[in-house]
Amino acid sequence: QAKDLGGGEHCRFEPVLHASAEERRQLEVALRKALGRDEMVLHYQPVVDARSENVVSFEALVRWNSAEHGFVSPGKFIPLAEDTRLIVPIGQWVMRRACEEARNWPEHIKVNVNVSPEQLLEPGFHREVVEALAATGLRPERLEIEVTESIFLRDASVARNALEQVMALGCSVALDDFGTGYSSLGYLRKLKFSTIKVDRTFVQGAAQGSAESLAIINAVVAMAKSLKMSTTAEGVETIEEAELIRNLGCDKIQGFYFGRPMTAPDALRLFNVVEGRLAS
Ligand code: C2E
Ligand code: MG
Ligand code: MG
Ligand code: MG
Repeated sequence: QAKDLGGGEHCRFEPVLHASAEERRQLEVALRKALGRDEMVLHYQPVVDARSENVVSFEALVRWNSAEHGFVSPGKFIPLAEDTRLIVPIGQWVMRRACEEARNWPEHIKVNVNVSPEQLLEPGFHREVVEALAATGLRPERLEIEVTESIFLRDASVARNALEQVMALGCSVALDDFGTGYSSLGYLRKLKFSTIKVDRTFVQGAAQGSAESLAIINAVVAMAKSLKMSTTAEGVETIEEAELIRNLGCDKIQGFYFGRPMTAPDALRLFNVVEGRLAS
């Protein structure tokens, strides 16, 4: 009888496990065709100067609307793209498109592009950036690459070389989601990041009264200042959070409070509205 019961449970659980592996396989098949079918677009989220609240840059965030699966969030398909190395062509497309679209913005506005470890560690990465800049005519100073601490978990020296090469072109590099992964302060000494992005979890924590989150933001801001790097607070959703972050001395703010990721035409309209107002 016990054996029967065990068998029964096995039968109940197996389809569930099977479904998730099957779902993943189907998602991969669709992801392989996504670029060719023109299913990806970039949305842009404003990053504002903490004091003036002027937009200083836009972060490019990829969106996938699949014919079979509908809208799939980056939190789901980016890890899959990384596992299957599909992130290499996808990342290349993102780089090119972001430079193209940023070319239509005012000259002082930067574009931030997220780069996965798999893409950064490809030997062709540097050439990809050079070609995207050359083809679009975007000044290298307007491109900021965002990487997370995870790039240092693998080939740290290869990652460092790749970043130094793009810095030599005039591009800047931001350290994304700082404090959530494996944080090695050694790399802050070796690599001249322009910006440290303080992860949303600390912003939320501090706003909810966590003394630990507050202490961490304070320490990151102080450390960045003495290293001559700037700080961006991620995920600021309310006026209270914006005030708190400003008082903590972060240089830039990004989050739903100032703007959600928007389509390229909407980002462009934002400039026209602002410039129309300034002109009149
Ligand atoms: P990330 O680079 O840290 O981007 C910030 C994420 O936080 C975005 O999620 C953005 O929509 C979200 N966000 C911004 N402000 C707020 C806020 O106030 N509240 C909340 N709750 N969320 C906020 P998204 O677009 O879903 O992207 C998730 C992650 O996927 C990104 O995190 C990035 O790691 C990755 N990703 C997105 N686009 C690309 C890409 O083109 N290439 C690569 N390699 N990764 C990408
Ligand atoms: Mg980012
Ligand atoms: Mg981030
Ligand atoms: Mg984050």
